[in-house]
Amino acid sequence: MSDCLFCKIIAGDIPSSKVYEDDLCFAFNDIAPQAPTHFLVIPKAHIGSVSEVNGDNSAVVAHIFEVIAKIAKEQGMDSYRVVSNIGEQAGQSVFHLHFHVLSGRDMTWPPG
Ligand code: AMP
Repeated sequence: MSDCLFCKIIAGDIPSSKVYEDDLCFAFNDIAPQAPTHFLVIPKAHIGSVSEVNGDNSAVVAHIFEVIAKIAKEQGMDSYRVVSNIGEQAGQSVFHLHFHVLSGRDMTWPPG
């Protein structure tokens, strides 16, 4: 999508701190980290949020979770949180599906 920030990051039009990339997804460090480790994993195909996941595109979500587990193992992360905000009230500010991966500090539940 031409006006999507994360599509521009995937295309390399906006710089990012890349953590991982393959044919289906891209991972990069969050620009405003909320934990010592905070990266985002996104599908290369534009999907607006979890609310747009369906039978035609859900395989990439399974793949993203495999990638998250792989990165976590490689980085020695044994405790971490995976979050996806859906809609403005939940805190979504970029409308391209993304999974926050946060680690390295104590976290509370429920979130604020
Ligand atoms: P959300 O608010 O759940 O939609 O998450 C969007 C995330 O994208 C926020 O945590 C932002 O800090 C992050 N973000 C926004 N712009 C950039 C950027 N250029 N590079 C990396 N992360 C970004």
